Amino acid sequence: MKPLHLVIGFIALLAAVWGYLPPFTVTLLCYIGLYSMVAVGLVMLTGVGGMTSFGQAAFVGLGAYATAWICTSPQAAELLGALPKGAYPWVGLLLGLAVTALVAWVLGAVTLRLSGHYLPLGTIAWGLSLYYVFGNLQSLGGFTGLSGIPPLELFGLSLASPRVLGVVIWALLLLAIWALHNLLDSREGRAIRALKTGRLMAESMGVDTAQQRIKLFVLAALLAAVSGWLYAHMQRFVNPTPFNLNIGIEYLFMAVVGGSGHLWGAVLGATLITLLKEQLQDWLPRLLGTTGNFEIVVFGLLMLLVLQRASTGLWPLLANATRSWLRPDAPARQPVGGAAQLDQRQLPPAGQQVLEARKVTKRFAGLVANNAVDMDVRASEVHALIGPNGAGKSTFFNMISGVDDPTEGQVRLMGQDMRGKPSRAFAALGLGRTFQHVRLLGERSVLDNVALGAHRRGHKGWVASMLRLDRGEEAAVLAEAMRQIERCGLAEVAHTPAASLPLGQQRIVEIARALAGQPAILLLDEPAAGLRHLEKQSLAALLTQLRAEGLAILVVEHDMEFVMNLADRITVLEFGTVIAHGTPAEVQADPRVIAAYLGGDML
Ligand code: ADP
Ligand code: MG
Repeated sequence: MKPLHLVIGFIALLAAVWGYLPPFTVTLLCYIGLYSMVAVGLVMLTGVGGMTSFGQAAFVGLGAYATAWICTSPQAAELLGALPKGAYPWVGLLLGLAVTALVAWVLGAVTLRLSGHYLPLGTIAWGLSLYYVFGNLQSLGGFTGLSGIPPLELFGLSLASPRVLGVVIWALLLLAIWALHNLLDSREGRAIRALKTGRLMAESMGVDTAQQRIKLFVLAALLAAVSGWLYAHMQRFVNPTPFNLNIGIEYLFMAVVGGSGHLWGAVLGATLITLLKEQLQDWLPRLLGTTGNFEIVVFGLLMLLVLQRASTGLWPLLANATRSWLRPDAPARQPVGGAAQLDQRQLPPAGQQVLEARKVTKRFAGLVANNAVDMDVRASEVHALIGPNGAGKSTFFNMISGVDDPTEGQVRLMGQDMRGKPSRAFAALGLGRTFQHVRLLGERSVLDNVALGAHRRGHKGWVASMLRLDRGEEAAVLAEAMRQIERCGLAEVAHTPAASLPLGQQRIVEIARALAGQPAILLLDEPAAGLRHLEKQSLAALLTQLRAEGLAILVVEHDMEFVMNLADRITVLEFGTVIAHGTPAEVQADPRVIAAYLGGDML
């Protein structure tokens, strides 16, 4: 059985019993649908994107209040006079989406700059503020709220009954899950998955991570607003209470308890929390003999328990339990016929200068990590940068790849001055790199990791991905990734999670990922570390072939045999300063180099 069959079975079951369920259950299912819609946005934002928000309830409020105002205020009626009454809620939806997008964009632009714990704190701040805005605006009815909101109407059909509205709610929820599932399974989805732990790496692959983050933030807010819109027309009245911080925390519970990285986890979490709340509100007052929001205490304790026992939520547990009979789709996908072409790069002619560093200096407080370093790297050349630990090699890599800015000096790539440019601008000009400390998305397959390297060469955006209009391009990206995987000798492990490979092989995955971007210059930081002798030989063969194809290669490596056999030219760093430069033979004969390497044990 495939997961898709299970989903279809679930929908069929719901549809079959829908007409016979008692009204109370139908209403409950409506609420579960509405909460799931918010939680599924949170799963994307928090679980996948790594941005924790306590403030989603406020966006639900924006969606609810926008339509409530349109449908009940005399000013709105004046503005919309010509429209039939049945159209008002739809204007309310448009207004809600527009206001939410705007507010989320502004809030996101401010809050998403915050790092670490300040981001969730920021969301608490605006979650609280929006609640008080709703409560204190007289035109929105203050803390009493707005009543008399009409039910939705669709082609003359009234959606007043929860049994009818529930169909719309669940249809929209399923549509949203389908679109988000598609989004995650695309070029943009790979970039989104990198936001949580791999932003620096993703930028080096050409991903604009700040833009991806804000888009994700707005998307989650819009889902919340749609939920609020439906809520307002189901309740027929709104007040600020359902949009306060408590509820914002409950939404986060739902996403985390269900399984913060899984879309269906949101539905599971929303169902569990809603049912539990229902029961607790019944039982706790009886048990304790007094009324109050005691359920929130129980939720808090439960949350602790879940985080202790199953930090990734309950969905993965469920997935594990069903593993024996529920087989996910095979990961291998055949390239679709007529696959789109990816962007191709014309490599510069052999010997042309690709990268030029002039007097690059980097100071960390008092420490001079790079001291006026000069270097040229040319097409069809392997240039090695060597030096003892702490000489400043990795720092220099960061200077010439846009990860960090030099304190002084100049870096030119393809003849362009790169001062102040982000690393994705370096990637766009043809710089591919690996990291000394491997930066892979460990849970994702090797294929997925390598495909991220080709991100820059595709163009399909979020909407195209959600609607599955990206399949041709996606097939081309995956085919390109597979080509690089095969060429790097990783075909056997293409569908294995990257983290389960030995460290040496993970370094090779990084090389494949860099190659998928079709670079003109490749920076490799200690690529042979952790490789066995035969693996080193095949790495040397690969680099020799890449050089013959016209790539410029700059490699930092400690294995001197590897370096001396491969490099055309060598630059030696010591304490941040270049102490020698030349062919392998020249460098090996240099007295300063011999001294630095303690009396000639270089080979
Ligand atoms: P290598 O790669 O040659 O081993 P690095 O470039 O990693 O050397 O480090 C060069 C020197 O700069 C070291 O003394 C290191 O401690 C220091 N250094 C590197 N990065 C930073 C940083 N972000 N802040 C302060 N010091 C740093
Ligand atoms: Mg280093």
